[in-house]
Amino acid sequence: MNIAVQCCGIAVLVVLFLFYIQKKTLATRSERVFRYTFLSITFCLCMDISSIVAITYRESLPMLFVNFVCKLYLGTLVQSMCASLLYVHADILKEEKPWRKCILVYMLITLGIIGAIFAVPVSIYANAETGQVYTYGAASMVTYAGVVAMLINNIILLFTRKGINPWRRRAVLIWMGIWTVAAIIQFVHQDLLIVGFASALGILVVYLQFENPEMNLDWETGLFNQGAFVQYIQQMHEQGQEYPVLSIRIYRYNDGNYSEEVQAHVIQRVAGILLSLPNIYVFRVNEAEMLLVFRKWEGAAAAAQDICQRLQSEFRLYGENVFRPYYIYTENAKIVNSGSELLELMQYVRVKYGESAQGKCVVVDEEAAEQLLAIKNMEHQIAAALEEDRILVYYQPIYSVKEQRFTSAEALVRMIDEEGKLVMPGEFIRIAEEDGLIRKIGARVFEKVCRFYIEQNLEQYGIEYIEVNLSTVQAADKNLAQDYIRIMDTHRIEPKHINLEITESASVGDRNILLDNMNMLIGRGVHFSLDDFGTGQSNLNYIVEMPVHIVKFDRDMTNAYFENGKAKYVMDAAMHMIQGMDLSIVAEGVETEAQLETMKTLGIQYIQGYYFSKPLSEQHFLDFIKENNVDRTGGVA
Ligand code: C2E
Ligand code: MG
Ligand code: MG
Repeated sequence: MNIAVQCCGIAVLVVLFLFYIQKKTLATRSERVFRYTFLSITFCLCMDISSIVAITYRESLPMLFVNFVCKLYLGTLVQSMCASLLYVHADILKEEKPWRKCILVYMLITLGIIGAIFAVPVSIYANAETGQVYTYGAASMVTYAGVVAMLINNIILLFTRKGINPWRRRAVLIWMGIWTVAAIIQFVHQDLLIVGFASALGILVVYLQFENPEMNLDWETGLFNQGAFVQYIQQMHEQGQEYPVLSIRIYRYNDGNYSEEVQAHVIQRVAGILLSLPNIYVFRVNEAEMLLVFRKWEGAAAAAQDICQRLQSEFRLYGENVFRPYYIYTENAKIVNSGSELLELMQYVRVKYGESAQGKCVVVDEEAAEQLLAIKNMEHQIAAALEEDRILVYYQPIYSVKEQRFTSAEALVRMIDEEGKLVMPGEFIRIAEEDGLIRKIGARVFEKVCRFYIEQNLEQYGIEYIEVNLSTVQAADKNLAQDYIRIMDTHRIEPKHINLEITESASVGDRNILLDNMNMLIGRGVHFSLDDFGTGQSNLNYIVEMPVHIVKFDRDMTNAYFENGKAKYVMDAAMHMIQGMDLSIVAEGVETEAQLETMKTLGIQYIQGYYFSKPLSEQHFLDFIKENNVDRTGGVA
């Protein structure tokens, strides 16, 4: 009867083994420990059978040998319980060092218990009539004590430790449950040798619930699926491994010439090619995207290029443009934190590089990937800041030389990040311009300026108008003028209190839209300044063509006047021309009294710079003008 039970156990393990080896696996740590556990239990069952045979034929065998086989069997019981503990720890200990230490500690404990089993005597029971055999005595007791201690340890771990996958927890709990029931039965009825069989059942449960490689496979293509991808990438990150990745996404060209089946067929063909490649794990992460994780650094970049070319010729078989694949090769995908972030990065690259990169292999090196990630994070931050109203406007007072007081101010945007820190426009304006969020930022700033001006009645403090920066992206928006007029109407602010700062726009088309916008706003009474004059390729013609009222000399230009002889002549000439056209000038970036005096003698009408004040929050700006715009009679100017 007992041999029959053990043989059933072996049969279960053989079937399981046959299923297991047919499927490809990712060789994650969990899978490796599962294989070790599987082997331990198989060995334990074999020793179980060997010990029954040895006891049955003990009279024709040396007693020392029979005892040895029985003790070895008891030892394998302890060892398979140790394997179950390691299996649970494989999930708890994410890093390699503590994991190795854990293996060492449990191996030493197991060896200690096995040593004790061999050190004490074992008794053998055999009933010739019924054929029942079993071991008992000191060695059995040591085994029971060791196994029960490990079992309790395991159950405590399962219930108390975080980080264990819930499916694994469930599977191991069922396994431990089966084992406990079997052990109790065997303890009470020592002739019922069912613990070995229970181990086989336990490992079967773990296989079905958690370690079945089929769960990691995509049915249609035989590639690994998204679940496997998430697990695998998680492990790569926990182990701090660097790894190159190639993403292949197949876009269908919508000309109605082919059916869904053709698409499915193509995906399968591609999968077939990819499956034959050595040293690469291929994951189908969604309907049309496959990710190739290279297991070796050396030659990965060249291999990626080869794969792209090979697939490209494959796609051409269906005709030019029927399928448009997008290939992105990332040298080191470790810079992201998880599988889902990696997929987001790939999507982001596709959006950034656009359609023009289709069919080519876009290589994103580590630096570029880091930059992209930083930009992506900044875009998230800007969107969240807009959503949560963390966009602030600071005001930098502008001094009128003629009036000898502050007659205007420039509105300068700031963002508060999630930690409450102030983020300067230099860090986010360019990014916002690239992804279009600048339109929302611009409108928000404009609204806040209108509200602030009216709510605080800034006119009473002598602030005649506020200068608000307009991005070239906004200026090229056909609806800009209408939107800004609507905002001004909503806040009931007179357009004369608004001065919009423009910069030179690159394209003629954009310039025409800007002109339309400007004319519409000027028709209402808004004024315009040309900002950043003196930077880059400033064009004097631009001043002639654009209906601006003020030209703002950039800080670089103001500084160059003092440092560099030639710049002085350029500035003098520009100034003559600007003043000849009856336009005013604002000198930006004036930091010292000497600079201020020179600007005054040059006849520059307005001064902006740290000499007077840095940009200030609303409250500080109010305090500033209340304190400084005071006339000689003690009232506000
Ligand atoms: P900008 O329009 O030329 O603004 C002047 C910049 O020079 C401001 O920097 C200001 O703080 C700084 N500045 C003023 N006086 C001095 C000085 O004496 N010394 C020094 N070192 N710097 C001085 P900020 O606030 O960092 O803004 C930088 C740029 O960001 C602005 O240059 C503008 O191009 C852009 N920006 C700011 N707010 C907005 C906005 O609401 N919309 C748009 N589209 N762009 C904005
Ligand atoms: Mg400006
Ligand atoms: Mg400027």
